[in-house]
Amino acid sequence: MELKPAEVLISKEAIAERVSAIAKEITSRYDGGSVLMVGILRGAVIFLADLVREIGPSVEVSIEFMKASSYGASTQSSGKVAITQQPTMEIEGRNVIIVEDIVDTGLTLKRLREYFADHGAASVAVCVLLDKQDRRVVDVPVEYTGFVIPDEFVVGYGMDYDEKMRNLPAIFTVRPVDE
Ligand code: 5GP
Repeated sequence: MELKPAEVLISKEAIAERVSAIAKEITSRYDGGSVLMVGILRGAVIFLADLVREIGPSVEVSIEFMKASSYGASTQSSGKVAITQQPTMEIEGRNVIIVEDIVDTGLTLKRLREYFADHGAASVAVCVLLDKQDRRVVDVPVEYTGFVIPDEFVVGYGMDYDEKMRNLPAIFTVRPVDE
């Protein structure tokens, strides 16, 4: 099916305001220390880029990327998540913040938290732009949340449909092109 943006769910301005508030929280939490911000490809790239630029100079920030994909019945608790691109930086002893676009079932973030714990991170936190709370299948702690949204498919601000629409500056719902 071909889809196009329908309505603005979260405006550019609202995103910017919330990103800045989260960055302030991160700055005060890690003040005088360092963090490794790990963006989950590809959807979190724009969020990560905006977020790190709002974190104050009192925090030493490094950036890393990794990729995960779910296979099998991803909406079931049995859904499996594979790490398809591993980080190359040293993780041991680092304060990791996983930066993700959306937490939906929670399966991806649960797997990612385990990955960093298994690799000796000093601490692990999760920062998501959007939380589809109603869809959660597994419990996973999320330390920083941008917005809680209803169970609707969204695109823009890094998030895609079929690798398209990531460039939209706001977050949109979608509808079929012929409607
Ligand atoms: P989960 O929490 O179910 O393991 O997976 C979350 C992932 O599903 C997100 O990182 C994102 O890639 C994808 N996802 C979930 N809902 C949406 C949505 O509304 N739009 C887009 N573009 N991706 C979504």
